[in-house]
Amino acid sequence: MTTPTIELKPSSHPLSDAEREAILTDPGFGRHFTDHMVTIKWTEGRGWHDAELVPYAPLSIDPANMTLHYAQEIFEGLKAYRRPDGSVVTFRPDANARRFQASARRLAMPELPVELFIGACDALVQQDKAWVPEHGGESSLYLRPFMIAAEVGLGVRPANEYLFIVIASPAGAYFPGGVEPVSIWLSEDRVRAVPGGMGDAKTGGNYAASLLAQAEAATHGCAQVAYLDAVEHRWVEELGGMNLYFVYEDHIVTPALTGSLLAGITRDSLLRLAEDLGHPSREGRISIEQWRADTESGALKEVFACGTAAVITPVGTVKTKDGEWEQSGGEPGEVTMKLRKALLDIQTGRAEDVHGWTH
Ligand code: PMP
Repeated sequence: MTTPTIELKPSSHPLSDAEREAILTDPGFGRHFTDHMVTIKWTEGRGWHDAELVPYAPLSIDPANMTLHYAQEIFEGLKAYRRPDGSVVTFRPDANARRFQASARRLAMPELPVELFIGACDALVQQDKAWVPEHGGESSLYLRPFMIAAEVGLGVRPANEYLFIVIASPAGAYFPGGVEPVSIWLSEDRVRAVPGGMGDAKTGGNYAASLLAQAEAATHGCAQVAYLDAVEHRWVEELGGMNLYFVYEDHIVTPALTGSLLAGITRDSLLRLAEDLGHPSREGRISIEQWRADTESGALKEVFACGTAAVITPVGTVKTKDGEWEQSGGEPGEVTMKLRKALLDIQTGRAEDVHGWTH
């Protein structure tokens, strides 16, 4: 089966410059979408076909579409940044493409070739380049590739038709007023994912599973939930949409990939970037008791969360049903902010990209 080329069928009536600029002055997150999208179909026996860049438009979906009933769906998230010279780059799209393939395998869906995933993102960014915010600040164009089952029917089995789509949405700075520590609710009974489940796949079901705990966090005045492992309810895994890092005096550590947490691309980049900056980094295991005890003894200096959306977010207050504590006095930590700047500088072209991460 051959890899299709993407046919360009651009819109004859994109938003005017003035309309687009009005949106870009305050884009928020995930509220506005660019003029185009890329769609690619997959059919059993035929493979990938009908790759097109078309005007952004609603889909027409049969009420018996299999995704609507059994949630065979996966997605990705990556950003395009404008560099000082006006050019536009994405950050490690090959890593997103490979994670998308891993998610597809877990959901019994076909694997999109890496080059087609990157080609689809490139085609959309190229066409809608004017939507990438100006260099400076932390604004970007967020890309959302996703895949759904396209077959109609109520039998429970993998579909024999799929639809891959990439859409794009301008994203303002995550912290417009300066970086602020986030408060975390430690979910001790509700889990996000179980061993053998789909925690390491980027599929909508994991996010559906997180919403109730997220609502509970809000009732405790917390912005994010930290999940523990599903067996012992003791080992720290990740937040609902970000990985965690623990900063000690002489090293930094992030929970190992046990299969029930997502292998974040920011997490992976920081394992390497921290070493570059002289902070030995490793994957390990942190229990909730150790998190608290090491904070109280002063051994644990800082904790931060990381992911594509916010890059790095310092953790401020941690609340559990047995009490609460503060990380680094509730202020953004020094190592946290140093790593944050180093990564953003690479992403936005302010620093040399020695790892070849930008595309
Ligand atoms: N964990 C979860 C559950 C997520 O949804 C995300 C966001 N994709 C992350 C971690 C961070 O991953 P990344 O650094 O690739 O954005």
